Amino acid sequence: MEKRKEEKEEIMTLEVVCPKCGYKKIIYAPKEKIPKCPKCGTQMMISEILTEGKYY
Ligand SMILES: [Zn+2]
Repeated sequence: MEKRKEEKEEIMTLEVVCPKCGYKKIIYAPKEKIPKCPKCGTQMMISEILTEGKYY
């Protein structure tokens, strides 16, 4: 395991949606990957980018 301090990493708030049942979820990329829908197991897709390139 390598230690990495990358808290300056660019964080994007993404809204993902299930194309099948319309279930929506907010994720934080790139820390979180686009998940599968908890309802029907379909690979979710990005519906909207809410915030982009937050740097501190
Ligand atoms: Zn679904």
